[in-house]
Amino acid sequence: MTLQQRKFVEVPTDWPLIGCIAFGVIDRGTNLIQVRPSSSCPLSCIFCSTDAGPSSRNRQAEYVVDLDHIVEWFKIVAKIKRSKSLEAHIDTVGDPLTYPKIVDLVHRLSEIPRVSVISLQTHGSLLSYKVISNLEAAGLSRINLSIDALDPQLAKRLAGTQNYDLEHVLKMAEAISNSRIDLLIAPVWVPGLNDQEIPKIIKLALSIGAGKRWPPLGIQKYVVHRYGRKPKGVKPMTWYKFYKELRMLEERFKVRLVLKPDDFGIVKDAKMPLRFRKGEKVRVRVVGVGWLRGEKLAVDLRRERMVTLVNASHAEVGSTVSARILACKDNIYVAEPL
Ligand code: SF4
Repeated sequence: MTLQQRKFVEVPTDWPLIGCIAFGVIDRGTNLIQVRPSSSCPLSCIFCSTDAGPSSRNRQAEYVVDLDHIVEWFKIVAKIKRSKSLEAHIDTVGDPLTYPKIVDLVHRLSEIPRVSVISLQTHGSLLSYKVISNLEAAGLSRINLSIDALDPQLAKRLAGTQNYDLEHVLKMAEAISNSRIDLLIAPVWVPGLNDQEIPKIIKLALSIGAGKRWPPLGIQKYVVHRYGRKPKGVKPMTWYKFYKELRMLEERFKVRLVLKPDDFGIVKDAKMPLRFRKGEKVRVRVVGVGWLRGEKLAVDLRRERMVTLVNASHAEVGSTVSARILACKDNIYVAEPL
């Protein structure tokens, strides 16, 4: 669905912000809480696991969440955690820098007791010197910056748009490295496409001083996702081969590339209780258009969780329907109307 055909939804403040993968807060039972204030992206990476950006075929809506609303739900989740130190990780199904109040969001998160790390994941196109300095002043701890190639033409091809400006992103990488924000360079390794680039990216990360407090690199494996984009002819590496390759690169560059949660101070912690179980029949109110084709968004009658209804083109917004829960992992609910 083209960008023009997509619906742009300002999430109403009476929608709960737990339950939908596309926006809100996600708790996977550790001291890291994912924060998703917007869903849009300016790029259309050909390997994108969330089919983001202007070239998306499956998305029918993009979302943006009110600042107070998302901070309030973050605090609800933070309250149940037992760890002394929490990480707010702004990741999103697009690029978090599309959120107009990203600097205020970082600042507000930094004021919450026990939040000692605020990190953000981006491909960097929307960064500028001013944005970096504002994020630094707001208290951002780390930027996980994805750079997938150092060849400008290949970088454009991987980003799925001729608008991708590698030179700009490289300047921004240096600017981050020279700020108080730590830099972690996080390329996605797409076998057959950017194999030659990975060693170059490792050298770059080391030469510009990435990884002052955390590891300098977080190389990501290309993984096929049901609704993600699949570049033609690309066969994903097995996890075995991926880690073997990383270990060889570790030897060659004398840098740690096989990372564990522990490297980021991530530990298991209390988890928000599930409201529904798989197979359970629930009554929900249909409240809006869903993220992907054929989906609607719904809220349970106690207004505690968002529920994504699949195969729900005919469910009318405003109606109350019965639905069967198909998935409930990490409080992300998918259901089908009965
Ligand atoms: S991989 Fe990231 S930057 Fe690229 S299209 Fe997907 S969300 Fe956007």
